[in-house]
Amino acid sequence: MISVDEARTKVLENLKAVSTELVPLANACGRVLAEDIIARRTQPPADMSAMDGYAVKAVDITEVPVTLKVVGEAAAGGSYDQVVNSGEAVRIFTGAPLPSGTDTIVIQENTEPAEPSDKDNANQNGDNFVTILVQSELSHYVRPAGLDFRAGDPGIAADVTLTPRDIGFIAAMNVPWVIVRRRPRIALLSTGDELVRPGEPVGPNQIISSNSLLVAALVEQMGAEAIDLGIAKDTEQSLRHMAEGAKSADMLVTLGGASVGDHDLVQSVLGKDGLAIDFWRIAMRPGKPLMFGDMDGTPLLGMPGNPVSSMICSYLFLIPAIDALNGQKPRIPPCRTGVIAHDLHKNDQREDYLRATIIGEQDGKPLIELFPKQDSSMLSPLSAADCLVPRVPFAEPLASGSEITFIPLNIPYPAV
Ligand code: AMP
Ligand code: MG
Repeated sequence: MISVDEARTKVLENLKAVSTELVPLANACGRVLAEDIIARRTQPPADMSAMDGYAVKAVDITEVPVTLKVVGEAAAGGSYDQVVNSGEAVRIFTGAPLPSGTDTIVIQENTEPAEPSDKDNANQNGDNFVTILVQSELSHYVRPAGLDFRAGDPGIAADVTLTPRDIGFIAAMNVPWVIVRRRPRIALLSTGDELVRPGEPVGPNQIISSNSLLVAALVEQMGAEAIDLGIAKDTEQSLRHMAEGAKSADMLVTLGGASVGDHDLVQSVLGKDGLAIDFWRIAMRPGKPLMFGDMDGTPLLGMPGNPVSSMICSYLFLIPAIDALNGQKPRIPPCRTGVIAHDLHKNDQREDYLRATIIGEQDGKPLIELFPKQDSSMLSPLSAADCLVPRVPFAEPLASGSEITFIPLNIPYPAV
């Protein structure tokens, strides 16, 4: 049996990044960028007003109050195109370019319309005047051209997963289409005579297939596409026929049937159809019968059928695999430090992943309590869990209050 780390390395070594496609920016959120985005324009394109007020020359308002002649107006999308002289101001609104000759904005709250008596002949010719009441420093409320970025600047580098904020940034750089990775297609094939889908008629010896939905949800959460191939019966023919659906996938994940029982057919049946096994069985619990191989060029990850096993195998192997298919640095579950709230027994030869909750804090660290029942079929504690507590092979017993490492279950977590 190989270790978790060795197994993950083997999986990752065998995966190639999927091809790319061009998509409209509006559809690109959550996708993995496959090109460097370079700014196609300067933003702001000119010196712009950041406020509603008056564009002035700073030298004209060194002493206040002072009354200036309002010679025109500039609103966002328009401009005042004549040169502004000393003693003059332009009414300006947020997002409008600064008229030539001005260098400073006085916000409108710091001004008032001038009375005719404030200025000789004011209003007699129909001219408008404004009185500046409060000084404004040179360049105040002016957004200089290129404050945000300049044409040709590097914007966003390839291989990031695009967030809504990135989409806004790319839009502002005037890039309407982007090259992204095609969403990796992950085919999921459940196996087992005992399984029925939720809502289907269910016999007394049957159980509901929860696994494929759990893993599909995780796959979709990771930005990949889950293709549910359905449930294969534990017969050679059924498994063979259902597995054909994986031909167009980037990876086939089988759920169940990975052990050596008479009804565990994945290895024996697909082996006849060209499955070349790379490894089978790893020194971990749950998830020991995990297998990895290649079926005519499609990587196959064969997971054990218990839901907890599949979920933990997904965290440890499938999520990094999806990252690799996306051309990204694979995310390995991060380990954090906490304190155990009770005694913990010695571990045996397998790496263990125990389900646990965070019940509070001790010494500034999360206080962790294991679920008393760790059966790998149990979905209720899995759903309630906050974290996994990994234990290395032959880990010594721990007393209550000891430091332990844990893996938070909230993903996506950052690549390490
Ligand atoms: P297997 O790996 O096929 O030996 O299955 C191990 C255990 O997981 C058995 O108790 C199965 O009934 C259960 N199991 C297998 N597939 C699923 C599934 N899709 N959903 C829930 N339980 C499953
Ligand atoms: Mg089975």
